[in-house]
Amino acid sequence: MTDAPPLHYALHNTIAVITLNAPPVNSLGHAMRSAIHQAFQQALADETVAGILIQSATKLFCGGADISEFGTEHAFAEPSLPFLCNQIEASSKPIVAAINGMALGGGFELALACDYRIAPSSAKLGLPEVHLGLLPGAGGTQRLPRLANPAFALDMIVSGKPVSASLLAEYGVIDAVLDDADFPAAALAFTQTLIAENAECRSCATLPAPKVDAQLFTDFRTHNARKLRGFYAPERCIQAVEAACSLPFEAGLAKEAALFEECMHTPQARAQQHLFFAERKALKIPGINANVPPRTIQRVAVIGSGTMGGGIAMNFINAGIPTLLLDLSEEALEKGLAVIRRNYEISLKKGRFTETQVKQRLALLSTTTDYADLKAVDLVIEAVFENMEIKRKVFTALDTHCKAGAILATNTSTLDVNAIAAATRRPEDVVGLHFFSPANVMKLLEIVRADYTANDVIVTTLKMAKVIGKVPTVVGVCFGFVGNRMLEPYGREASRLLLEGASPGQIDRAITEFGMAMGPLAMSDLAGIDVGYLVRESRREEIAHEPSYQLVQDALYKQGRYGQKTGRGNYLYTGRTQSEDPEVLTLARTLAEELGIVQREISDEEIVERCVFSLINEGAQILDEGIAYRASDCDLIWVNGYGFPAWRGGPMHYADEIGLKCIVAAIEKYRSQLGDYGEKWFTPAPLLKRLSEEGRQFGDYLNPQYQ
Ligand code: NAD
Repeated sequence: MTDAPPLHYALHNTIAVITLNAPPVNSLGHAMRSAIHQAFQQALADETVAGILIQSATKLFCGGADISEFGTEHAFAEPSLPFLCNQIEASSKPIVAAINGMALGGGFELALACDYRIAPSSAKLGLPEVHLGLLPGAGGTQRLPRLANPAFALDMIVSGKPVSASLLAEYGVIDAVLDDADFPAAALAFTQTLIAENAECRSCATLPAPKVDAQLFTDFRTHNARKLRGFYAPERCIQAVEAACSLPFEAGLAKEAALFEECMHTPQARAQQHLFFAERKALKIPGINANVPPRTIQRVAVIGSGTMGGGIAMNFINAGIPTLLLDLSEEALEKGLAVIRRNYEISLKKGRFTETQVKQRLALLSTTTDYADLKAVDLVIEAVFENMEIKRKVFTALDTHCKAGAILATNTSTLDVNAIAAATRRPEDVVGLHFFSPANVMKLLEIVRADYTANDVIVTTLKMAKVIGKVPTVVGVCFGFVGNRMLEPYGREASRLLLEGASPGQIDRAITEFGMAMGPLAMSDLAGIDVGYLVRESRREEIAHEPSYQLVQDALYKQGRYGQKTGRGNYLYTGRTQSEDPEVLTLARTLAEELGIVQREISDEEIVERCVFSLINEGAQILDEGIAYRASDCDLIWVNGYGFPAWRGGPMHYADEIGLKCIVAAIEKYRSQLGDYGEKWFTPAPLLKRLSEEGRQFGDYLNPQYQ
């Protein structure tokens, strides 16, 4: 903390220049709001001042509210942000916002309340409040539809995505795009000209509600229904824009304030804000000083151009990093390249990239079958078959051919990273980089820290993850790491519930109604029933099991029903359309009879509790073992890699929200209700039990080894 004033105030002839200077993001905490308020009072009271310029001394204009103040008395203490924006708007002297870089949330709302906005074309502006379970509450939902148009505003507010200053200029929100090398000087000159020309003050309050066909909102809701399923805030954002289009400005602001208040105290807002902080916490790694200098990553190689290798390579070329793809043969490489090209063609058709952008990306990709070509790369990511012998051979070759200091990473899902590292003479350079499929799309990256992984390798891979747009979490070595290890009991229960009488359709519906992006059985069909079977088969001796364990899935595998790829699995598929298959129900009934399981009606509640609470229980065990550093890391992994609803904040946060006592009670209930099966699988993890007895939460638990 520094006591330096958050802004400075200076006069340039008749212009009062207010320069925000509270690095890193000029956040609008109480001290900053008070300082802005005071500076405006001073400028308005000074008769020599004809106009006001608000700008930033830091790299960006303003990152918005200080959300660490949420839940404290400072958050909404006066001068509040809505008050400040209204004060700015009511000013009798023209105010110019010079947006040199990012203007997000409250920062953009502040600029919207000014009379004029100027920015370089590279500046990005956005209203990301929806990602925190909120809506812009300082007039943004009322001003943006008036300044741009309702359709554009709706999209920006509900998606929360920042857009460029150039685009906003097309919509009339930015008055001038100034790409001068000296932006502050250009901003001052712009303001001087305005004053010299006696430019008027412009207020949204005087603009009529924009006229719009109500169908816009109906269509928007229909079009986005799938994406917004379960979320509370987006609907309130839509209602706020509707208010902007139907109410006078003042009444619209009041409606926005009421909707903001509705969102603010929801479990969803807590959940989404928890995830926001979780992403930041995940970068702090016990025992590693964040100031350790990272290694340089300028060239990357990917070994294996299959499903994962191709997707991984796309991440790097998308980020402008030259990437070399190595496979066993030209045929394998050609196959991999064809998939990459097809993916880009789809992106091109969807308008995500231009033809030039695709060409630039593909130009960064080269291929080889010769390990000797790897000598210049800084990072290698191995994505060959999931087989220890093959992986160890690959790592021995990498050890021979890669330069000293190159990071050698494996994308293994299940194998022991320590054993892979031991195939080299430099285990300190070896790390797991566990991408998720499709690797060019899924946000999650589990960084697996093995016994000897060097600290600067972890720091470098965390930094690299950000460069390629991933959400990284560092985890320890164990079978399945964090994500897949928590997945195991979840899948186990789904499969067992089939035997007990639930249908695949019922199980998946109950789970998707809970909020998961996909049900466990549809997911198994997508990932491949064969993949799960082969993983189990490779370690039957080691894994805990009993006669009913994944029995239906194993039987489906033996029938060649591998899921979507064979058109039959837990469901039948015609193209991508899935339907319930009576044969699966018969199979489950027959297997149940053989095991003496009496099928019964099963409630959706039981399905959700057994699947979801089992994965939470495993998460508790993982925390206790120190494989995950904190519960919020498990949440990030499940939200970004497995489709757990963000609005529930991840499984561990969800458990905290409903209370650990409730989870323990349910686990104990199934333990007594499900006979031998219950006794085998339903035991509260010791940490879960202990925290519940102490009335604590996962969120406040830190494993003693990391304290
Ligand atoms: P894949 O079968 O699609 O591709 C493997 C590629 O590796 C093939 O192109 C093959 O020719 C090549 N290859 C095999 N041996 C090689 C060698 N010695 N040198 C160079 N290339 C070699 O496999 P995949 O699904 O992409 O999986 C790759 C790795 O990623 C596995 O370790 C897997 O566990 C892991 N993984 C897979 C997924 C997934 O959903 N598919 C998700 C996460 C992690």
